[in-house]
Amino acid sequence: MKVLIADDSLVSRHMLEATVKKWGYEPIVACDGKEAWDLLQKEGAPQLAILDWVMPLLTGPEVCKLVRQQQRETYTYMLLLTSKNQREDLIEGMDAGADDYITKPFNHHELQVRLRAGRRIVELQAELLETQAKLRDQATHDALTKVYNRHSIFEVLERELRRGERDQMPIGVALLDIDFFKSVNDTYGHIAGDTVLTEAARRIKASIRSYDSIGRYGGEEFLIILPGCDEACTRSQSDRIRRALASEPMPISEDAHPDTSLALTASFGSTTALPGIRATPESLLRVADECLYEAKRAGRNRIVFRSLSSEAGAPAGV
Ligand code: GH3
Ligand code: MG
Ligand code: MG
Repeated sequence: MKVLIADDSLVSRHMLEATVKKWGYEPIVACDGKEAWDLLQKEGAPQLAILDWVMPLLTGPEVCKLVRQQQRETYTYMLLLTSKNQREDLIEGMDAGADDYITKPFNHHELQVRLRAGRRIVELQAELLETQAKLRDQATHDALTKVYNRHSIFEVLERELRRGERDQMPIGVALLDIDFFKSVNDTYGHIAGDTVLTEAARRIKASIRSYDSIGRYGGEEFLIILPGCDEACTRSQSDRIRRALASEPMPISEDAHPDTSLALTASFGSTTALPGIRATPESLLRVADECLYEAKRAGRNRIVFRSLSSEAGAPAGV
């Protein structure tokens, strides 16, 4: 773990540097408060800092104040080092945002245990952030296919529609449903069905552009948002995905059915929100759903596209 050592005294700096190194830390050294502040703002900055109180350009407490004002996501644990030892000094230092305080001349063992306490805080916070990120990911993604879940893809659609309206840009939408999927489960079992769903999601993801989004809308239904796509683009993108799914048989790779793969197709209901017609997620999904139903009735493995009419959406400005 990196430790920032900020001290204007060369002797003290060298001594601290050698000491923390001996304890297994990686020292990063600053000669004044300004340099300390600059180092703390860099990418991958130390999250543990030993700051001398009196330093040129910025004092230790001033550095603490600046760091706390930033409200950064990762925590910086700051320990003030000073010869000031009055109660008021301690209050002033802690009030500026320091986490701990040690007076010079300090006891090495005391600094070691105080630094260890700081390290525990930093590590604990890193764990919390990691857990938070994991929970956020779980709440927004489908556990099986790892694409957005229904709630999140709906939110993406809302967001893209607002952006499309602002930038006068079309938004394409494709709702796809795997054909005869029930028979995969019935013939090969639910686990094989899961494998096929995962592979389908992988193929869709691989065939969309980086700024498109995919979500699992229902059991074997996926919703794809295509920002900037007008009718021609939505049709061609939908067909690209359709071909990616149907091009090669899907491996089942299940113990009970080794080396089995099956041809799979999907039907698409596609539409676009065009500038000038105010579309809502509901109106777009209704049209996409109707188109999907038509695609199924017309024989599956195809795309049915319909523009969002002004009756389905609402004329802009109304
Ligand atoms: P169609 O061509 O009309 O779409 O026929 P289909 O068989 O695909 O449609 P249907 O809606 O009858 O069947 C969908 C099946 O998808 C039924 C359900 O058991 C299955 N399913 C839904 N979610 C999952 C899942 O997470 N895993 C697996 N293995 N199957 C699922
Ligand atoms: Mg289906
Ligand atoms: Mg279905």
